[in-house]
Amino acid sequence: MRYISTRGQAPALSFEEAMLTGLARDGGLYVPESWPQLSAEQIADFAGRPYEEVAFAVMRPFVGDTFSDEEFRGIIQRAYAGFGHAARCPLKQLEPGHFLLELFHGPTLAFKDVAMQLIGQMFEHSLKRSGRRVTIVGATSGDTGSAAIEAFAGLDAVDVFIMYPHGRVSEVQRRQMTTPTAPNVHALAVEGDFDDCQARLKDMFNDHDFRDAVGLAGVNSINWARVLAQVVYFFTSAVALGAPHRKVSFTVPTGNFGDIFAGYVAKRMGLPIDRLVIATNQNDILHRTLVTGRHEKEGVTPSISPSMDIQVSSNFERLLFDIYDREGAAITQLMTALSGEGGFALSQGAVDRLRAEFTSGRASEEETSATIKATLAASAELVCPHTAVGIKVADEQPESRVPMITLATAHPAKFPDAVEAATGLRPDLPPRMADLFERDERLTRLPNDLAALQAFVAQNRA
Ligand SMILES: *Cc1c(COP(=O)(O)O)cnc(C)c1O
Repeated sequence: MRYISTRGQAPALSFEEAMLTGLARDGGLYVPESWPQLSAEQIADFAGRPYEEVAFAVMRPFVGDTFSDEEFRGIIQRAYAGFGHAARCPLKQLEPGHFLLELFHGPTLAFKDVAMQLIGQMFEHSLKRSGRRVTIVGATSGDTGSAAIEAFAGLDAVDVFIMYPHGRVSEVQRRQMTTPTAPNVHALAVEGDFDDCQARLKDMFNDHDFRDAVGLAGVNSINWARVLAQVVYFFTSAVALGAPHRKVSFTVPTGNFGDIFAGYVAKRMGLPIDRLVIATNQNDILHRTLVTGRHEKEGVTPSISPSMDIQVSSNFERLLFDIYDREGAAITQLMTALSGEGGFALSQGAVDRLRAEFTSGRASEEETSATIKATLAASAELVCPHTAVGIKVADEQPESRVPMITLATAHPAKFPDAVEAATGLRPDLPPRMADLFERDERLTRLPNDLAALQAFVAQNRA
C-alpha cells in the first residue's frame, strides 16, 4: 500500500515513511491510495474474537511490508496489554437502541491512548531496526500530551518533550504528564497559552537545522497511523451489535475530525454503517459546514469539553480529498482560501456527498451539563462532557437508531469539575490509578521563548 498527499505535490510514501513523516512536504495529509475491502464473511468472522485479532485483520492491508505478520501481532499485543479492560473498547447499553463505546480504558483515560499506544510500539520497532533515534516534540492542551508521554515512556529509540500551557491544564491532565518516571519523557510547562505552545512547535519544525540536528518527529492527530488505529473499534462495536447482517450508526464527539474520519474509513472498507453523526460543542465549524455548505473559521470559545475546542479540523482535509474525487489541485485551492480568506464554499456536488454520509449537531454548554445530569438519572452512568455532547446530538437522531453507538471519548474522572458541577458527584479515578494525586511530579518550567525551549530539548536528549 502506498500513501499519497491530499495536495498531490509530494512523493508517494510507504506506510513506514508516512508514519514517521506526519505532514507531507506540500502541506497535505497522507492517505492510502485506495481503500482495502473486507468481505461480509470476513467481517462476520470478527464476532466474539479478541480486540487484538480484529485489530490485526483490519489494519494489516494498510501496513504493507513495513512489518511481518509476526512483528505486527507483537506490536498490537504490547500496545493494548496495559489497558484496564479485557475487551479493550467495551460496549455498554445506555437505553433501548443506544449504546456507549467506552474508549477510555487506556493509561490516560481518553481515547487518544488507543492510537498513541500503538504508534509508540510501531515507532520503536521501526526505529530500532534501522538504528535511528528521533525526538518527538508535541504541544498539548491536555489529552494528547499525556497519551504521548505514557505511550513512549521507557522506549529506547525516542525522546519525548511535551509543551503544555503552565497553569492551564486540569490537575489530572498535568499529573498524567508529570508523574511518569521514565528518563526519556519530559513535561515542559510553558509560560503562555496553548496557541503559544503550538506556535513554538511550528517554529521548531520550521528551523531546519534544529529539525535535522535532533531528528524531530511529530505525533499529532494528522499522523495517518493514528487514524488507522481508530478504525478498529468501529468494526468491533458494530459486529457486537449484529453487523454485517444489521446496520449501525455512530455519533462521534468531534474536534480535529480524526475519530469520525476513522469511522468513514471503516465504511469505505465495507462495514455497513447507516449514519455517521458529527457532534460538536459550541465550537461548531463542522456543524455549520453541514448546514450552510460553507467551511468558515471563527475564534475558539473555551468550553467544558476542551478537547473539542478547535477552530480548524485538520483531518477534514482527508474527507474533502475523497469528496472532490481525489484531486489534489482542488484541495490546494480550498486550503489556500481557508488560510488566506478564513473559509470557502463547498461545491454543490461536494455538499451533496457530505450530507449523504454525515449528519451533524451541536451542544451548548448548558445542554452538555444537562445531558450529564439526565444520563445519570436515566441510566446510572456518569459521562464526561465530551461524551455528553455526543449523547445529546445522538438523541436528536431517532431515525438513525438502527442501533446508535455513541463514542465515549474520555473517563468522567478526567474532567471531574464539569461532572461535579452537573451532578453534584465527583467521579473516582479507576483503582489502578487511584494514587495519582500522591505520586511525585517532575516538570520543567520554561519561558515562551524558542531559543530556551530548543536549548532544553537539545541538552536533555539521551
Ligand atoms: C481529542 C478528543 C476528542 C476529539 O477527537 P478528534 O479526533 O480530534 O475529532 C473528543 N473527546 C476527547 C476526550 C478527546 O480527547
